[in-house]
Amino acid sequence: MPAKKQKNTQRITLGKLPPIYKFFLNPYQDVRFSRCPICDAKMRSRKLPFVVHVDPHLLSVLNMTARYCPNDELLILHKDKLENLLAFTAAQSAPEMLGNSYLVVGTLEHNAYAQVASGALTMGGIFGVLHDFQEYLQFEPVHYGWVNTDPPEEKPAE
Ligand SMILES: [Zn+2]
Repeated sequence: MPAKKQKNTQRITLGKLPPIYKFFLNPYQDVRFSRCPICDAKMRSRKLPFVVHVDPHLLSVLNMTARYCPNDELLILHKDKLENLLAFTAAQSAPEMLGNSYLVVGTLEHNAYAQVASGALTMGGIFGVLHDFQEYLQFEPVHYGWVNTDPPEEKPAE
């Protein structure tokens, strides 16, 4: 009996297309990440159909504008905006799933959103045009010196 090959796949991908982007869901309402947290370049914006899996079995496709860094292939969505849109969509299609936990799994090909919107793509068909995310990242907001709340030890010299 041949030895079992230990193929170390990090995680299962849902989409049939290769993963493209790194992804960060920004939970900080007061931090906009107008610059890339990796390379500090000014972020661009990119509108894409994002696929969200809601427990236990809802797939929602949301057309959203994300912040985008072309150097790092990084997409950032604001959590509050995403959740508002998700709640709005779920309220119409699956109100019993409102408030369930969810995961943004990836993005669809640019032109696939029209097919989804028109109902031409089945839920199963979505996987054929889905790019999973390459990686999920977390960033802490940067605090600059002036927000230091410790009392100054001495008055600045004039
Ligand atoms: Zn960058």
